[in-house]
Parts: sequence; C-alpha cells; structure tokens
Amino acid sequence: MVSKLLLQTKPVYGGNARAIYTMETLPQMATVRAKAMSALAPDSSRKGEVITIAAGLDASAIKTHVLQKVVQEAEGIKLEDAPIIIAGGRGIGSAVGFKQLEELAQMLKGAVGASRPPCDNGWVPDTIQIGLTGKIVSPDVYIAVAVSGSSQHLAGCSGAKNIIAINRDPEANIFKEARFGVVGDWKKIIPAFQAKAKELLGK
Ligand SMILES: Cc1cc2nc3c(=O)[nH]c(=O)nc-3n(C[C@H](O)[C@H](O)[C@H](O)COP(=O)(O)OP(=O)(O)OC[C@H]3O[C@@H](n4cnc5c(N)ncnc54)[C@H](O)[C@@H]3O)c2cc1C
Repeated sequence: MVSKLLLQTKPVYGGNARAIYTMETLPQMATVRAKAMSALAPDSSRKGEVITIAAGLDASAIKTHVLQKVVQEAEGIKLEDAPIIIAGGRGIGSAVGFKQLEELAQMLKGAVGASRPPCDNGWVPDTIQIGLTGKIVSPDVYIAVAVSGSSQHLAGCSGAKNIIAINRDPEANIFKEARFGVVGDWKKIIPAFQAKAKELLGK
C-alpha cells in the first residue's frame, strides 16, 4: 500500500469546481502553471538532488514529433512580467477599442491582456488571453475593463495584488473580486483616467 500520496487540486467543469486527484502508483509528479503561485526568494543553502531515471522508451513508440519551433517576438513588456496589466473584455467592442487600452498601458509601463471573447473575435492575438485556458498573471495592479469576471477569467488573474474593475453593470461579478471599482462606460472613464495619469506623471 503506497502512503503519503500527493493530492493535486485542479479546476474542472470549466473552472466552476475544483477536484482533488491522486495517483496510486509511484513515482508521483506534479507540474504548476507559470505564475500560479508567488515564487519564494532564492535560498542558496537549499540544494536539490537531480536523479536521472532512464525512461526505457523505444523511440519507435513515440507518436508525436516536434517538426519546428517558432519563436514569436513580443513587443513591449511581457504580459507575465508586467507590474500593471490593462485587460479588456468583450465590452471593448473592437480592435480599435484595444488601441486605446494599449496607449494607456504604454503610459503606465504596463501590458495589455484580454478575456477570451476579444481573442476569439480576432481583435487581439490569442497570446494575450488571460484565464483558465490562457495565461496566469499576478501583477501589482490589474485593471479589468468591460470584463464581467467569469470564473474562467478569474482563474488567470485572481493572484493580482490589486484588481480595479471598470464596468457599466454594477452587478458584474468582477466587482466582488475588485479592490476598487468604477461603474460606468469605459469609453468615458478610460480617457478621463488617462488624462489624469498624464497630468500626474508630467507627460
Ligand atoms: C472551458 C472554458 C474555458 C474558458 N477559458 C477562458 C479563459 O481562459 N479566459 C476568459 O476570459 N474566458 C474563458 N472562458 C470564457 C468565459 O466563460 C466567459 O465567457 C468570458 O470570460 C467572458 O468574457 P468577458 O467578461 O469579456 O465578456 P462578457 O461576459 O460578455 O462581459 C462583458 C462585460 O462588459 C461590460 N460592458 C459592456 N460594454 C461596456 C462599456 N461600454 N463600458 C463598461 N463595461 C461594459 C458588460 O457589462 C459585461 O460585464 C472559458 C470558457 C470555458 C467554457
């Protein structure tokens, strides 16, 4: 009987529930998505031991092969490393709307992210999707603009230190997670916010 099994918690049913899994065989292994947890400060006194285990796999048994690796050049600050993220949702309405968010992000030295609908609609690239099936981010400030706050989206941003929500629906779920919230049309709020930020930053 194997004891001390690893218990792994994983989102299921599109992020609406969490299931705890375990495996009853050894060795036990788990992976964690990047930015899912805050990293500890490096401690040089801790040493790990690398044990090489021969997998004993016959090369002919491998059915998938890497044919090509394509490195996509990212412009500006990498989403995962940005201290400030301005994330737009379906309510932004178009690629043109996202240009406005990009201007603000540049001014604040941040990056633009998105919920799934803007990516599915082709307004922004899939690489900036945040959430269960996108990236996990944990910036200091996450400004969610016209994002309703679905569980799948929150799975990618609930580690943010401060969430600021801008939404015209006062009942939007995102306000439950937000530290600060503004109820109103982003088309009025973002330009006003940008003008004030410009003034404060002396730009
Ligand atoms: C298996 C699975 C995986 C998924 N993975 C992801 C994922 O990784 N990331 C993700 O984001 N979603 C994911 N989804 C989709 C998710 O369920 C939601 O559909 C999605 O997050 C909704 O995006 P949204 O908040 O932008 O849009 P909506 O829910 O349509 O919300 C739009 C919001 O904009 C507001 N709004 C509209 N106009 C304005 C305006 N002018 N000013 C201010 N506010 C305005 C509205 O009040 C509304 O709250 C997944 C779904 C499934 C089933």
